[in-house]
Amino acid sequence: MKIATTIAEVRAQVAAWKKEGLTVGLVPTMGYLHEGHASLVDEAVRQCDRVVVSVFVNPTQFGPNEDLEDYPRDFDRDKALLEEHGCHLVFHPSVEEMYPEGAATYVEIHSDMPKQLCGKTRPIHFRGVCTVVSKLFNIVTPDKAFFGQKDAQQLAILRRMVRDLSYGIQLVGCPIVREADGLAKSSRNTYLNPQERQAALVLSQAVKLGQELVAQGERDAAKLVAAMSAHIAAQPLARIDYVEAVDGVTMEPVETLQGTVLVAMAVYIGKTRLIDNFIVEGL
Ligand code: AMP
Repeated sequence: MKIATTIAEVRAQVAAWKKEGLTVGLVPTMGYLHEGHASLVDEAVRQCDRVVVSVFVNPTQFGPNEDLEDYPRDFDRDKALLEEHGCHLVFHPSVEEMYPEGAATYVEIHSDMPKQLCGKTRPIHFRGVCTVVSKLFNIVTPDKAFFGQKDAQQLAILRRMVRDLSYGIQLVGCPIVREADGLAKSSRNTYLNPQERQAALVLSQAVKLGQELVAQGERDAAKLVAAMSAHIAAQPLARIDYVEAVDGVTMEPVETLQGTVLVAMAVYIGKTRLIDNFIVEGL
């Protein structure tokens, strides 16, 4: 496994692979890797000849009062995990390498899509995500890129970006990986103290409850959301940011569950904001 810190090194390596006719997969991450990230790398290794994983805590997707400084980092541990999972090249650039002095160009979807769900409390988040992923696409020029369904709105937005900007890159969505007790794996779970870690189970419990209600025939979005919200609200350490049912492609709120619907939530457990979701298809 090679480590590259410069864009030039990545370009040279990818050019050499392409000359050999090899396909390239990209897995963008912010590091502090866990089995959720590893599952994306595993899928990339299955589908592509060579796999590039980027480890970069992207400042442009953090708001002024968010956790950019505190975001957990452990590159040595990340390297070991990536080597174990068959990654071929790790791209670990500095902020200056990715955003040279004076960088002022952003990629932004001008529709309501990035304003829904997480966009309500994180207004510049998806602009930062689209910008950094665009840059990674331009640097790595992958055939396929792998993203987790855990960040469902991010995946929907990136699908839109790829379509709108004609990136000839296939996006592959991968299922949410959970802890044994149901909590969706997240680098931010490390912020939780033992009491909060227990309280955080309300998210996956609400997902399960929602899935059960849908399986029992519930099609009224407001009723579904009310039942899930009530479960979360009963936990004193939890504060709901949102629980919503939206169209699976546009992220617009829906009244009735039909077609493909994303049921998503963001919940503060103490100071830590966690997300979870499920998708209902074929209604
Ligand atoms: P992050 O490092 O949090 O930016 O995440 C990098 C990628 O890993 C994103 O595509 C996430 O959706 C994905 N990811 C994070 N957590 C999980 C998880 N528990 N299961 C599946 N994918 C995940």
